[in-house]
Amino acid sequence: METCAKHPDRETPYKCMKHGIAMCSECLHCRDPLIYCKYRSACPIYFMEKRDKKGDFSEKPDYA
Ligand code: SF4
Repeated sequence: METCAKHPDRETPYKCMKHGIAMCSECLHCRDPLIYCKYRSACPIYFMEKRDKKGDFSEKPDYA
């Protein structure tokens, strides 16, 4: 298991396969929700964020 890129004290099973960035539950966020990603169809990060935003990816995310 890897540690969150922003919170190195937190282990997480979630990792953006496109950018290679591990994210804890607080940081779960797709960096490219509006452009093609070959990992999307199997990406839990994308689907959890989409569920939490009720499918709305029209707003630009606040990148760190
Ligand atoms: S869908 Fe988003 S979070 Fe998932 S691998 Fe692609 S860019 Fe990363």
